[in-house]
Amino acid sequence: MPDNVQRRRIVVNGIVQGIGFRPFVYNLAHSLGLTGLVINTSAGVKIEAEGASSGLDDFETSLKNDLPPQAILTSFASHVIPLCHDKTFTIGFSQENEKASTQIAPDLALCPDCLRELFDPNDRRYLYPFINCTNCGPRYSIVTGIPYDREKTAMRHFAMCADCRREYEDLSNRRFHAQPNACPDCGPQLDLCDSDGQVIARAGQVPAKAAELLATGKILAVKGLGGFHLAVGAANEATVRELRRRKGREEKPLAVMAGDIDMARRLCRLDQIEVEALLSYAAPIVIAAARGDSGVAPSVAPFTDKLGVMLAYTPLHHLLLREFGGPLVMTSANLSEEPICIDNREAMERLAEIADYFLVHDRDIYMRGDDSVVMQIAGEIRTLRRGRGYVPRPIGLKDGGPQVLAVGGELKNTVCLLKGDQALLSQHLGDIKNLEAFKFFREAIAHLREIFEAEPQLVVHDLHPAYLSTGWAREEQGLPVLAVQHHHAHLAACLAENRKDGPAIGIILDGSGYGPDGTIWGGEVLVGDFNGFKRYSCFEPMPLPGGDAAVKAPWRTAVAYLEKTFEGTLPDLPFLLDHDIEPIREMVRKAFNSPMTSSCGRLFDAVAAMSGGRQVIAYEGQAAIELMEAADRNGEELPYRWDITQKDDIFYMGVRCLIRQIGADVLAGSPQALISLRFHRTLVEMLADSAERVRKVTGLTTVALSGGSFNNYLLLDGLIRLLGAKGFEVLAHQQLPAGDGCLSLGQAVIGRQHLWNTKH
Ligand SMILES: [Zn+2]
Ligand SMILES: [Zn+2]
Repeated sequence: MPDNVQRRRIVVNGIVQGIGFRPFVYNLAHSLGLTGLVINTSAGVKIEAEGASSGLDDFETSLKNDLPPQAILTSFASHVIPLCHDKTFTIGFSQENEKASTQIAPDLALCPDCLRELFDPNDRRYLYPFINCTNCGPRYSIVTGIPYDREKTAMRHFAMCADCRREYEDLSNRRFHAQPNACPDCGPQLDLCDSDGQVIARAGQVPAKAAELLATGKILAVKGLGGFHLAVGAANEATVRELRRRKGREEKPLAVMAGDIDMARRLCRLDQIEVEALLSYAAPIVIAAARGDSGVAPSVAPFTDKLGVMLAYTPLHHLLLREFGGPLVMTSANLSEEPICIDNREAMERLAEIADYFLVHDRDIYMRGDDSVVMQIAGEIRTLRRGRGYVPRPIGLKDGGPQVLAVGGELKNTVCLLKGDQALLSQHLGDIKNLEAFKFFREAIAHLREIFEAEPQLVVHDLHPAYLSTGWAREEQGLPVLAVQHHHAHLAACLAENRKDGPAIGIILDGSGYGPDGTIWGGEVLVGDFNGFKRYSCFEPMPLPGGDAAVKAPWRTAVAYLEKTFEGTLPDLPFLLDHDIEPIREMVRKAFNSPMTSSCGRLFDAVAAMSGGRQVIAYEGQAAIELMEAADRNGEELPYRWDITQKDDIFYMGVRCLIRQIGADVLAGSPQALISLRFHRTLVEMLADSAERVRKVTGLTTVALSGGSFNNYLLLDGLIRLLGAKGFEVLAHQQLPAGDGCLSLGQAVIGRQHLWNTKH
């Protein structure tokens, strides 16, 4: 024998279940002449391989480097054990005897092999809308527990036919142990129903009939992977308007689904990284530059030069798009910021007033999830909403530690479970203000705890006493709790996502978060780490007349900021003529129902309204987005003057100074494109100036950028460049949203640190 013979036990963790990992191991072992076995356990995939040690070395190298496309290894351990003298290499069955740590994969878009078979008349799954394999198909949305086996999925109601079973048991087959494996003879089927629930087409007739209805301007509810969509022809202006009317969604852009990348290119001008994102297995909505001549109805995405586009990601979508022949509006079937519908009957009840027809099927969805939304900002694809396709993929942390559950904030919420060195974030849960969303919040926590067999030692919540999530954490858990300040959580989330411990300077910009001093924070320069934080700088606090009423009506904020700035004699700005401004001025003068805020979002609102932009918003952030898009990005104009004054250890970034100059610019007749550009440049300069002052005091050179305002590409791009030029290391979000969707991660890592600190 040329080599000494060994047997090694290898345990790997990561995303290794439900994505063809065991067949990969099996084929690899065979090609290297090794014997032994591979088995899924809830502690990971366990391999025992026996053979020449050189072959074993090659085996380990390939395991790490030649993985199937969806697999991610987070740990790899190998030990030599006594020989067993097996004759062959085999795949064993799942065991549930060890502690769980192996991940369920996210739902995966249809793979190219299955797509080819779907449209191959000689394939036995020709035009079958539930075709899938180990490389693609539903995962997270159909799983009830681990290990990932058919009995723990929505497919347990479907007994495989002989042909499917043969594939499922054949090690060399692409469908070996593909848990959702099915065919027209044994798997789920489509039904098309009218609004009374009467079936008007079945199985193979459904896609053509559905496309015909869409072509005549009907609104269809379509059951997808993570829930129902509402679908209409994207070119049909009248139908798109009708959909908006029925859904009560006035202006927020709607996403469009294209059948393939060529169709997507006809809708948007796409950079290479945007194309890659569209074609990825996550298949997110990519917000990109809309083409003017795409034929998409104006009401799909009014008041913006962007369009959210995604590719068909289930076989049903492919069938529907091919029959229809053009792009479809596909928007989550829900009322605004309520959870997406998943159940057939629930959909027919809740969507009765919206959809004309229902395209349903009999494969259940266990865990709902909206489509993910990403956008290229400052040269990288960044997540705006994290859901289907990414969840429950873990965010890798620098270190392990005790288990912690964090429940996030209120708007655009997520929850987060820390387990070992992984952060498991829920999908986007919406605004936890209404009972439907609160129910979803509880479902998502229960599901995460179930599939990751978690036993958290601490529950972390926001400092805001009135949030439903805060109440839930305090009252329903019987576990120790910790309150964390909103912007501290943002800073910690940005550090954790970038695998840093801090301390760092955090520039945290958003709409609002409850401050420790009882005022509303939102434009902060903090210094901190997972242990704590200190505020070094913020926007000069300004009054917010009527609180939430001002958030919905930027003109009110503009009037208040002007009143505070000019104290009595306001400049004759055109927008003032359109509103009843005296009550607002009175409120500000008397400091009545006008909480003070350092919010960045409200500053954007005020500037937008003053300069002739959005006066009343139809969705969160609308005024700021439109102001950003209005900017003449190629303009040469200089920033405004800015002032920073120090008082009681805090550097106040002057807001009145800005409002005064912008007011003068508006009076002088400057176009909004120019004002917006100057305003953005001023913010970038002023924030970088603040960071430099904090660096002088603290010696820190790392800056973390977090908060919903960093979805603003001018701000993020400008700050990354300028801070970089000034010698800072700049951290930003990528996998997680910069907005409140990242809060739960920050809370969780602060909570874990708290457990360490109180133990030692
Ligand atoms: Zn496939
Ligand atoms: Zn079958």
